[in-house]
Amino acid sequence: MDLGIAGKKAIVCAASKGLGKACAASLVREGVDVTICARTAETLEATATELRALGGGSVQTVACDITSEEGRAMVLKACPEPDILVNNAGGPPPGDFRNWGRDEWIKAVDANMLTPIFLIKATVDGMIARKFGRVVNITSSSVKAPIDILGLSNGARAGLTGFIAGLARKTVLNNVTINGLLPGAFYTDRLITNLKIHADQEGLTLEEMAKKRAASIPAGRLGDPAEFGEYCAFLCSAQAGYITGQNCLIDGGNYPGTL
Ligand code: NAD
Repeated sequence: MDLGIAGKKAIVCAASKGLGKACAASLVREGVDVTICARTAETLEATATELRALGGGSVQTVACDITSEEGRAMVLKACPEPDILVNNAGGPPPGDFRNWGRDEWIKAVDANMLTPIFLIKATVDGMIARKFGRVVNITSSSVKAPIDILGLSNGARAGLTGFIAGLARKTVLNNVTINGLLPGAFYTDRLITNLKIHADQEGLTLEEMAKKRAASIPAGRLGDPAEFGEYCAFLCSAQAGYITGQNCLIDGGNYPGTL
């Protein structure tokens, strides 16, 4: 299926690894010119080299912290008129809410709620004027069902999701859609870090913990980031113009609800 987005411009945030990188890869294969960012220039450049080897769209890099105003300004300078925006940033650390003060909460809200909102604010009116825009916010399955040790993520992402629910129903009149893409367990560095914490708590090796986690998912396995990237590319497609304000779960059947 031709997604009809060759030649479009995309910003993919936090994309040197994991889910962001997979989204960038799927868009590049579709012929989209992508601007990717991450904090460490060396890792980012290595990823850009891999993405360019895929053929398709061009790849430019901006080494920055996307959760800072300065970082966002750098990305927007490199790609001032994106047609596609994939919002992503590192997730907040796990822990017990009794140990979190104002600073921890502000950091989580900055990264996982305000950063996507400010990037949307800077780009959505241009998308509306050009009558095409696709925004995908990488959030988490925690938006549907909280994850006990990830209270900072549960809270900050719920704030973003609530805000988007309203905005997404305004922008769609001009073919600008905004959706959440909610990962369950995908095999990335972030998941490995969380699995290690659980493995230590339960006295298991990382491999044993990964197997145990996989066995608890109806699909019987962890997600492959490439599967996530392809879903993202579809939400960014020309064909997806009637999908907005949705929270699209991709979790191997793990969420147990009927709806
Ligand atoms: P990852 O650790 O594999 O990759 C994160 C990427 O973000 C890296 O490229 C890193 O360099 C970049 N990054 C982090 N903070 C940044 C910042 N401030 N500025 C710029 N770049 C930054 O993580 P992932 O598994 O791909 O997760 C992506 C998002 O999805 C996170 O918010 C995570 O909490 C969420 N999530 C992941 C899973 C999963 O199973 N992997 C599940 C639920 C939610």
